[in-house]
Amino acid sequence: MIRDKARLDALLGEVNDWVRRVAHPNEQRVAELDEVPRDIVEDMAARGFFGWSIPEEYGGLGLTTEELVMGAMELSQCAVAYRARVGTNTGIGSEALVADGTEDQKQRFLPRMARGEATGCLALTEPNAGSEASNIETTARRDGDHYVLNGMKRYITNAPIADVFTVFARTDPESTGAKGVSAFIVERGTEGLSTSKPYKMMGQSGSPVGEVHFEDCRVPAENLIGGQEGVGFRTAMKVLNKQRIHLAALCTGPAIRMLDMAFAHASTREQFGQKVVDFQLVAALLADCRTEIEAAKQLVLATARARDEGRDIALEASICKYFASEMCGRVADRCVQVFGGAGFVADHSSIERYYRDVRLFRLYEGTSQIHQLNIVKQMQRREAAAQ
Ligand SMILES: Cc1cc2nc3c(=O)[nH]c(=O)nc-3n(C[C@H](O)[C@H](O)[C@H](O)COP(=O)(O)OP(=O)(O)OC[C@H]3O[C@@H](n4cnc5c(N)ncnc54)[C@H](O)[C@@H]3O)c2cc1C
Repeated sequence: MIRDKARLDALLGEVNDWVRRVAHPNEQRVAELDEVPRDIVEDMAARGFFGWSIPEEYGGLGLTTEELVMGAMELSQCAVAYRARVGTNTGIGSEALVADGTEDQKQRFLPRMARGEATGCLALTEPNAGSEASNIETTARRDGDHYVLNGMKRYITNAPIADVFTVFARTDPESTGAKGVSAFIVERGTEGLSTSKPYKMMGQSGSPVGEVHFEDCRVPAENLIGGQEGVGFRTAMKVLNKQRIHLAALCTGPAIRMLDMAFAHASTREQFGQKVVDFQLVAALLADCRTEIEAAKQLVLATARARDEGRDIALEASICKYFASEMCGRVADRCVQVFGGAGFVADHSSIERYYRDVRLFRLYEGTSQIHQLNIVKQMQRREAAAQ
């Protein structure tokens, strides 16, 4: 749902301009430094990029799902590191509080996140809980007016730099699966919490991902999200359902950018006395990219609108994430092909960096296989409900 078209157009125009004027010229710098430099982070914060999905009463823009995905499609038309820097605050790092936090918790954490003064992250995954996310082993034992957390989380986006951690831990030691899991907010500086150095990864230079360790980490009971034990996994699913649509939008932006680069290259590179774009086999590669990008855009927008209307989108959100992430991988592969050798040589194009960066989309926030399974599960659920 679009609340105020003129205001949204102004925001999208600003983001479009920022991406071309600031983000593109600094991509190589970000990759070499392996971080988004402070001046750029401060610029993004001053423009309110960290607060897009945080409600207005807590200092954010309170974008609807449709507005959020439109912004995401613009902001992600550059190296993934930029939007990953703000992306936990506009997504998984704040959403548990937005969805299920108490008023006091929202007041304490959301305004700082909206201003970009605090970076959030979501810590669910563990060595024995990847696709089987409900298999978490981190424990939270009640001790007076605190919980004592023990365990570890891995592959956590922004963990090495985060200030506010949304953590899922088992409060009922006898429980298995989704039951007995609770969600907590843990602040950097809490004794017993430590984070690793960022991993070396295939792509996404400048986006720090690492581990979180809890050793007798004492968390105040008032940081139990929603003040209720045993409903943490339900909170996680609320966050991830929205995030699937958001991430699908974030897969669409890099695909648009890669196609722009490939189209420009094909329109200038000449072989056999003509521009390579005029060879029908090359044109077919470009046409397939454009077609699939358009399909993903429309799918994401329709699902975002349905969510804003309060409809059940569990099936469509999985379809969005599955289709858009796989689409982005196919677009990356075709665009490297259009560049020829320059698509493989890092000194000759940035397509090879994008190709590596977007590989992650098919792996996190539910692998493609997990979404395929969920799509059929949701079809069965709807079928049963209709009978
Ligand atoms: C860079 C990066 C950033 C991440 N950021 C975060 C984050 O911020 N927060 C967080 O909590 N997590 C994060 N993750 C974790 C991510 O969500 C998991 O890696 C992902 O869910 C897959 O889990 P896994 O790596 O354990 O793979 P596994 O679950 O071990 O999967 C291995 C293979 O088996 C397949 N498979 C597994 N189960 C089934 C099944 N039932 N049917 C068919 N196939 C199956 C998978 O599709 C995959 O191909 C991140 C991961 C990476 C790499």
